[in-house]
Amino acid sequence: MRLLLVEDDPMIGESVLDVLRAEHYAVDWVKNAGSADTALRTETYDLVLLDLGLPDGDGLSVLRELRARKARIPVIIATARDAIDQRIAGLDAGADDYVVKPYDVDEILARIRALIRRSAGRAEPLYEHEGVVLDPATHTATVDGQSVTLTAKEWAVLEPLLARPGLILSRAQLEEKLYSWKDEISSNAVEVYIHGLRKKLGTQFIQTVRGVGYVIPKS
Ligand code: CA
Repeated sequence: MRLLLVEDDPMIGESVLDVLRAEHYAVDWVKNAGSADTALRTETYDLVLLDLGLPDGDGLSVLRELRARKARIPVIIATARDAIDQRIAGLDAGADDYVVKPYDVDEILARIRALIRRSAGRAEPLYEHEGVVLDPATHTATVDGQSVTLTAKEWAVLEPLLARPGLILSRAQLEEKLYSWKDEISSNAVEVYIHGLRKKLGTQFIQTVRGVGYVIPKS
């Protein structure tokens, strides 16, 4: 899953970035409203964590622009604890949820997981499909009850496929989930991770759609 972090405070930004990356998210970090707007127009994200107090303007304007374009990407706004008016304005401008500063990182992570599953049309916290069970909260995976260890990048490839069985994702779409701006993308990386996943989950679990991409077939 690929996230956009919009946060102008360097210390807060660094620490949130570390936490998100440790949780296997690919994260791009921008520090002002202009860069946030550009990133949201040019890249594809699964969720935005948006600080409302930004140096070059209000995070609310970024949110309003986004919703005016009918973008459905989940947005969590961040406000000061006593800024109730700002939270109400943010929710009414199209935010899906909010967190208050100072951040509780465990709360942010739980809210991110909840929003990502709802945006994929799911309510249940675990991914369960054809004997494979993934728990995004603990990063544990089992196949027919046996625990398997997935690398962070294997997880990053598997989760979006497992979120919507039957949906074909292209190599480019999976690459977007894997990397943030600063990472190098090797040309066969997705194939390598798919190969690793097939060894662990069974050769038929993820199928190749020739010339199009990859899919986990519906049950
Ligand atoms: Ca700020």
